[in-house]
Amino acid sequence: MAQTLFQKIWDRHAVRRLPNGQTQLYVGLHLVHEVTSPQAFDELARRGWAVRVPHRTFATVDHIVPTGRQLRPFEDGMAEAMTRALEVNCRAHGIPLFDLSSGDQGIVHVIGPELGLTQPGMTICCGDSHTSTHGAFGALAFGIGTSQVRDVLASQTLAMSPLKVRRIEVRGRLAAGVYAKDVILTIIGRLGVKGGTGYAYEYAGETIERMSMDERMTICNMSIEGGARVGYVNPDDTTFDYLRGRRFAPSGDAFERAREWWRTIASDRNATWDDEVVIEAGEIAPTVTWGINPGQSVGVGDTLPDPRSSEGTDRSGVSEALEFMGFRAGQPIAGTRIDVAFIGSCTNGRLSDLREAARVVRGQKVAPHVRALVVPGSQSVRSAAEREGLDEVFREAGFDWRSAGCSMCLAMNPDRLEGRELCASSSNRNFKGRQGSPTGRTLLMSPAMVAAAAIAGEVVDVRRIP
Ligand code: SF4
Repeated sequence: MAQTLFQKIWDRHAVRRLPNGQTQLYVGLHLVHEVTSPQAFDELARRGWAVRVPHRTFATVDHIVPTGRQLRPFEDGMAEAMTRALEVNCRAHGIPLFDLSSGDQGIVHVIGPELGLTQPGMTICCGDSHTSTHGAFGALAFGIGTSQVRDVLASQTLAMSPLKVRRIEVRGRLAAGVYAKDVILTIIGRLGVKGGTGYAYEYAGETIERMSMDERMTICNMSIEGGARVGYVNPDDTTFDYLRGRRFAPSGDAFERAREWWRTIASDRNATWDDEVVIEAGEIAPTVTWGINPGQSVGVGDTLPDPRSSEGTDRSGVSEALEFMGFRAGQPIAGTRIDVAFIGSCTNGRLSDLREAARVVRGQKVAPHVRALVVPGSQSVRSAAEREGLDEVFREAGFDWRSAGCSMCLAMNPDRLEGRELCASSSNRNFKGRQGSPTGRTLLMSPAMVAAAAIAGEVVDVRRIP
């Protein structure tokens, strides 16, 4: 019977049906970081349990590491304690740790793919919501909580309820200046931040097929912001070309055998999906969020909505967002003055993101009132960018060039907004207080749009920049 990728991977990893109706799934790859693992390891220690499959478990430090001065011990005692706990736990259980001295440290969703750990057909989990990123490779990748991190460490399995599958086809080609970030913000804007509840999102169509792996990761990364538990793209030659030669990917004959199997994992052409949505790429403009969730966005040439013309519960949501942001209904988003520009995160902190942003800022200067920073997603991304001279491009323009980490995506480290600052950000969440200040404000957009805003000092259409 024809099946979707979701059904194929689910069936191949199902250990048994649990009495509560959930399925116990075997986990192919467990990625661990310093923030959601300490309690899980503590509980293992209390019960005298070992990590069940250490060679399928990999760790890094990302959320809490400072991106400026990185000398140990860290100035922040909490950051030092969490990092030390991870080091001790990884040593005790034989888990490989990509720490600051490794040359491979970085945001967990950036390093998994770049090391070749993330592969098609896998089940993957990590104690971070944006684990959906790894679905770009044709994997089922679940963000999990701390108690589930404990379960996976102890059993290498995860209890999950099955999902419906929505196929989102993006047709046609994107215009110049329109990026993967604009596509996913448009999808979330149309389907809503809860529209994906109970679903896996399967991204398909010419636009997605033409995307690089970096772009597909940006799309899958934000599936969770649309309410979907996972998002994925069927694996194809782009996927296989990306993986070939990566450290943890199969090599030689094993790679060829794996590739043949990976091809079989893709959704069958005559599979049936629980829902299908079509989006026309030609209708997508550079997109900017104006509110307090990623679904509240407009094209850069548009104006902000009026709560009076919104329906039902959306009316109060629009009012609340406008009030928090200090915006008024009907005002254009273009021209909104910014205080901070942040380029980075697991959504848009990869080499291709930095290249696009550097193309915009080359030979320009950051507006005098803007604090601008670029935070590569991993040490590898940072080194590669430096080999291309991108760090110099950013520095000469007035950007702060930082070391790898989550940085201002969630500000569990010294990179944070102050007071009411307004930040043009390439990250994935614009919730109240997300970037460190309870009153700080976030406008999500593509890295190229952040770069353009940094130079202009306000939101501008990157397509107008020569
Ligand atoms: S960059 Fe942001 S979303 Fe991504 S793993 Fe770090 S904190 Fe989570």
